[in-house]
Amino acid sequence: MLDNKYPPEPFRIKSVEPVKMIDRAAREEVIKKAGYNTFLIDSEDVYIDLLTDSGTNAMSDRQWAGMMIGDEAYAGSRSFHTLKETVQEYFGFKHMIPTHQGRGAENILSTIAIKPGQFVPGNMYFTTTRYHQEANGGNFIDIVIDEAHDTQIDLPFKGNIDLNKLQNLIDKEGSENIAYICLAVTVNLAGGQPVSMENMRDVRKLCDKHGLKVFYDATRCVENAYFIKEREAGYANKSIKEIVLEMFSYADGATMSGKKDCIVNIGGFLCMNDDELFMQAKELVVVFEGMPSYGGMAGRDMEAMAIGIKESVQEEYIEHRIKQVRYLGDNLLAAGVPIMEPIGGHGVYLDAKRFCSHLTQEQFPAQALAANLYVESGVRAMERGIISAGRNKDTGENHAPKLELVRLTIPRRVYTYAHMDVVAKAVIALHEKKESIKGLRFVYEPKMLRFFNARFEEI
Ligand SMILES: *Cc1c(COP(=O)(O)O)cnc(C)c1O
Repeated sequence: MLDNKYPPEPFRIKSVEPVKMIDRAAREEVIKKAGYNTFLIDSEDVYIDLLTDSGTNAMSDRQWAGMMIGDEAYAGSRSFHTLKETVQEYFGFKHMIPTHQGRGAENILSTIAIKPGQFVPGNMYFTTTRYHQEANGGNFIDIVIDEAHDTQIDLPFKGNIDLNKLQNLIDKEGSENIAYICLAVTVNLAGGQPVSMENMRDVRKLCDKHGLKVFYDATRCVENAYFIKEREAGYANKSIKEIVLEMFSYADGATMSGKKDCIVNIGGFLCMNDDELFMQAKELVVVFEGMPSYGGMAGRDMEAMAIGIKESVQEEYIEHRIKQVRYLGDNLLAAGVPIMEPIGGHGVYLDAKRFCSHLTQEQFPAQALAANLYVESGVRAMERGIISAGRNKDTGENHAPKLELVRLTIPRRVYTYAHMDVVAKAVIALHEKKESIKGLRFVYEPKMLRFFNARFEEI
């Protein structure tokens, strides 16, 4: 009997892009030239690209059709109104400003909402988010539950905010010294772990008590909604659209990277309910992005994003999405490969500390593992560990996160189950000869967001 545990693709393929694999000797050349940094490998040299789920989505025929009817007017574009009305309907916020991508929205929000010296608590940091918070004088404080920093604790909502940590911060620093709460759904660097509706409701209540604002990093809100439907009592019969709307009903606003859950290749936006803050955001967007009616996006991109938002909450789409990721993770677990558990929404995260237990964190095990996986198989993954975490802005010391991970990120609607099998086989083969993986050291370390352009050599 065929096992139907994993749903088939809820689409058929209309356009294809050939992939090819270069041989091992060529891959060894490539990784050396790239300074052992998978960000610096040309796409042409990659067989299966799991670097990121950001902007790597396959658009639907409807979205491509939408590109043709994009209104490219500099001001007052029809496509802007289409996007605005869609965001209002699906996210529920009063105001929306398009940005070129998520970090554009983060830049504007951090500039208008953070006073130098204020704290910005959040459920684990994200690279660009923390950068903008700190660049505006904010101090990021991690208030995710402790379990999120452990790869082996199985919890349904491992991205939750620890309400005690939040209360303690308020007691210690005073609510006037907290800019806002940044609540990410799902938590990227914890392995795509979701936040429960109950937790969002409780955070709202606590913040109301102290007059604090809550802004969501909404990047993977639809994936988060699927986990709520699957795991939280009372939501099994609610639609994904209803769940997403309820999630945002507990927020004052959100930054969104459209390159993830909006199923497009570029774009983002900033949402809020507050009229005064919206006025300030509108004044800033013209400096960094463009007119408030396009904010760094082409009309056609806004059109495609509006359609992508509608498609993203379709039940068959999101079920297939989450379960395809889980299929890969389950195969690795079955073979004894150490991964972040439970399996999250957008990728499978290899636990490099356990995978490369012969290396210390200062030998950059996740960076080395990602480089070796490429040489082994042509599969491109990404480091999410000590390199991504960067240095403390005051002491200059390396942040040494508990999580030292390699992210196998699955692009939306791009690869098939057969591709997942190939990836699983490659990881398992590498795991069997894991002692051959050598540590790395920097030969070039950029000052900001170093993981993008850093170069290394083998020790
Ligand atoms: C990708 C991402 C961002 C930044 O969005 P960009 O579109 O890449 O600028 C912010 N937060 C999270 C959690 C992300 O994954």
